Amino acid sequence: MRIDVLTIFPEYLAPLELSLIGKARRERLLDLHLHHLRDWTHDRHRTVDDTPLGGGAGMVMKPEPWAEAFAAVREQGRAQLGADAQPLIVFPNPAGAPFTQGTAREWSEREWIVFACGRYEGIDERVYEHLADEGYEVALASLGDYVLNGGEVAVLAITEAVVRLVPGVVGNAESLVEESHSDGLLEYPLYTRPARWTDPAGTVREAPEILLSGDHGRIAAWRREQSQLRTQQRRPDLLA
Ligand code: SAM
Repeated sequence: MRIDVLTIFPEYLAPLELSLIGKARRERLLDLHLHHLRDWTHDRHRTVDDTPLGGGAGMVMKPEPWAEAFAAVREQGRAQLGADAQPLIVFPNPAGAPFTQGTAREWSEREWIVFACGRYEGIDERVYEHLADEGYEVALASLGDYVLNGGEVAVLAITEAVVRLVPGVVGNAESLVEESHSDGLLEYPLYTRPARWTDPAGTVREAPEILLSGDHGRIAAWRREQSQLRTQQRRPDLLA
């Protein structure tokens, strides 16, 4: 999978060198390209923002650098992936569709995603119109009902959720099957050794006996029941 990120803070994406995502890059399962949006400006100050038309607080990202950046990145990607390759352009945006595990699953099958990180009050609306006219596929993705300072943190989260579903990235693919949100439920409670643990206050805490029974059918049924119970208690909206 190829991922391009357009941002005015490429250094914000440094954690993508770590852990499983870093390993996926070294193993060429993920081909990540970070781009500085200011590279597509032409003034001395490398300006990417201006005051909002109509007045109001804050600054708005100018359309010109974005349009040039998308064209350049599309050319670079096509040189690698073929002349017909089409990126999915993702704008992290609090006014976008909620990003879910279902979205992560869909996007993990994509060959190429380009993330566009907004800053300030956001991006001039005409950029979206231009991309639609140019035939780009565009998605606006929200991480949740709150406002971040920029799209970079959202790109970190979305990239991790998507890339870990790319075959080969997580060593044991089975561990992806029973996770929270993989089947609409939250995951069951987890235990490890020791089966009998005395906590620092002196209370003895036993793991559920069924987990020591070796009866895989009964364990699976217990886990399913616990998943349903937990979902009902913590996230009844998921069952509705
Ligand atoms: N003025 C915008 C609004 O009210 O909807 C908020 C802009 S925010 C300060 C700057 C950038 O952060 C956005 O363009 C977007 O890229 C990113 N961002 C903020 N909150 C986000 C969220 N919940 N999900 C995804 N991206 C977010």
